[in-house]
Amino acid sequence: MDDSVKSIVDVSKYLFERKLVSGKAGNVSSRFKNNEIDIVAITPTMTSLKNVKEKDIVLVDLDGNVLTKGKPSSEIDLHLSIYKEKKDVNGIVHTHSPFATGFAFSNKNIKRLEGFGPIKKSYLDYVDYEAPGSKKLAEKAVKALSEDVLILKKHGVLVTGSNIEEACFLAEFIEDIAKTQFISHMLNLSDSF
Ligand SMILES: [Zn+2]
Repeated sequence: MDDSVKSIVDVSKYLFERKLVSGKAGNVSSRFKNNEIDIVAITPTMTSLKNVKEKDIVLVDLDGNVLTKGKPSSEIDLHLSIYKEKKDVNGIVHTHSPFATGFAFSNKNIKRLEGFGPIKKSYLDYVDYEAPGSKKLAEKAVKALSEDVLILKKHGVLVTGSNIEEACFLAEFIEDIAKTQFISHMLNLSDSF
């Protein structure tokens, strides 16, 4: 458990420093086993990932029962629905990183580029807008997630991994490929170079 909690704090600070999250946006969780029971450790609501400390991390079971003090992230249902459905996922990162979220607010899809695992589908999965924190978003997201990344339309990005560090690095990579796609699109608009 201590490892999970420490990893969440480390990843939270990394995401903030790398400007993948800002203000009090974004949330991070990790799944671990305690006596064969799945426990999810998640960042608290209304706390900047910049300042989150080990004592602030909230533990919940897969049904959402809070096992420690504190209030979990408002996206707790989104995280839990994925852990319930995807047994190989043990870490989830949700950001509003600017380039990927820019695509989420457009009608363009993000191409899956080389550099992070095999490319099976050409474009990242997405789910149409539902209110942040809603059960509807959680239900629809888990159905739409066929690989490891899901664009939440008009909202942000959700990234899963076999552990929290993998999810973090993939979130960083996704922001970069969105940036690359944006830059190449802008350059191709002009033939004056
Ligand atoms: Zn969000």
